[in-house]
Amino acid sequence: MLIVQKYGGTSVGSAERIKEVAKRVAATHDAGRQVAVVVSAMSGETNRLLGLARQIAAHPDERESDVLVSTGEQVTVALLAMALKELGYPAFSLLGHQVQIATDSAFGRARIKHIKADRLLSALREGHIVVVAGFQGVDAEDNITTLGRGGSDTTAVAIAAAAKADVCEIYTDVDGVYSADPRICPHARKLSRISYDEMLELASLGTKVLQIRSVEFAKRYQVPVHVRSSFSAEEGTWLVPEDPSMEDVIVSGVTSDLDQAKITLLHVPDRPGLAAKLFSPIAEDNVVVDMIIQNASADGFTDLTFTVPKGDASKALAHVKAAAPEIGAAGVAFDADVAKVSIVGLGMRSHAGVAARMFQTLAREGINIQMISTSEIKISVVIDAKYTELAVRVLHDALISPAQ
Ligand code: ADP
Ligand code: ASP
Ligand code: MG
Repeated sequence: MLIVQKYGGTSVGSAERIKEVAKRVAATHDAGRQVAVVVSAMSGETNRLLGLARQIAAHPDERESDVLVSTGEQVTVALLAMALKELGYPAFSLLGHQVQIATDSAFGRARIKHIKADRLLSALREGHIVVVAGFQGVDAEDNITTLGRGGSDTTAVAIAAAAKADVCEIYTDVDGVYSADPRICPHARKLSRISYDEMLELASLGTKVLQIRSVEFAKRYQVPVHVRSSFSAEEGTWLVPEDPSMEDVIVSGVTSDLDQAKITLLHVPDRPGLAAKLFSPIAEDNVVVDMIIQNASADGFTDLTFTVPKGDASKALAHVKAAAPEIGAAGVAFDADVAKVSIVGLGMRSHAGVAARMFQTLAREGINIQMISTSEIKISVVIDAKYTELAVRVLHDALISPAQ
C-alpha cells in the first residue's frame, strides 16, 4: 500500500512540529506502508520571502521570485528528512526538479504537465521514505517554477495520481473540511465526506483548505483524498465521487472570497459588439473575469458590471478606461470593498427555493445584494465586504445548521 502524506505550513511550523511529523510518518512506515511525504514551507515563510522581494522591487521579476519562494520548501524537506534519519529511518529529500515535476513556464502559477515518478517509485520500493518539496516544479528550460499559493496540495495529489497511491492524506491545522470556515463560523460542522464537484466549487469560491488544482487532479484521476489534522489522530474528510444519497443534502457548504473587485461601465449604449470590444483586450491580458451583469434599460442604455481578482483590478481598469470613450460609456466606477459569498450543494439541483431562502436571510440582516450568479450546484452573491463574516454565519445557520 502506498500513501502520500502532505503536511502544510503550520504542521511544519517549528523544529518541534517537524519532529512530530517525523513520528507520524515513521508510524505509517512501521505499519508496512510505502510513504511519500510532501511538505510546505514553514508557516509564514512564503509571505516573508515575498515581502523581501517587494523590498527590492515593486514588481519583482517573476522568474527570480520563483527561485526565491521555492527555498521555503527546500528548508522543510531537508529538516524532515534529517528528523526521520535521527529516528533511524531511511529517508531522503527531493526537490521539484529532482522528482521531475514538469510544469509550463507560467511563473508563480505554473501548471503541472507531467510527473516522471520513476526515481520516486523505485526509492519507495527499496523501502525509503521520500520527502518531496511541495509547490515547486521545473519548466522545459530547467527554470524553477512554483504552482501558486497553496500549491503543495497540488504537488501531493499529482504525485499520488502519478504513483497510483492508495490514498493522499492532506494534513493541516483543522481536522477536515467544514461546512464553513470554522474560524469564522462557530456552528460549522466537519463533513465526513464531500463530492469532488462540491469541493471544486468550494475551492474555487474561496475555501483555501485545498488548492483548486489539487481537487481537479483528484477528480480527474479519482484519487481518494483524506483531509485531516496533523495535531490529532481523528478521521477527517474524504473527497469521494458523487453518489445519489448526496443530493439529499441541499447545502453542504458556505464560503466567501474577499479577493474581488467590481468595475462598472455607466450608461453604455446598448449595441451589438459592446461586450466583445470590452472583454477581448481584458482576456488577452490574461485577466479572468468572474461575474458579469448587464441590464438593458428602456431608453437603450445599460450599466455593465463585472468582477475580477483584486490583483488584476488595475490592469482590467486600464483596459476599461481605454475602451470607455469608444464604447460611448458615460463613466467608469470601481469598488474594491466587495466580497463574494457562496453556498454550494448537490441538492440544489433537485430542490427549488434555495435562492429565495438565501436572499431572505441576507435581507433580514439588511445586507444588500449587488450581484448574483448561479450554476447547477452553487449560488454566489456579491456584497459589501464589511458584511462578509456576518453573511457566512447567518447563511450557515439558516441553510445548514441552526444555532444550538
Ligand atoms: P495548510 O497550511 O495546512 O495548507 P491552509 O491554511 O492552507 O493550511 O488551510 C487550512 C485553513 O483553511 C484552516 O485553518 C481554515 O481556517 C481554513 N478554512 C477555510 N474554510 C474552511 C473549511 N470550509 N473547512 C476547513 N478549513 C477551512
Ligand atoms: N508555501 C506555499 C504557500 O504558502 C505553498 C503551500 O504552502 O502550499 O502558498
Ligand atoms: Mg494550504
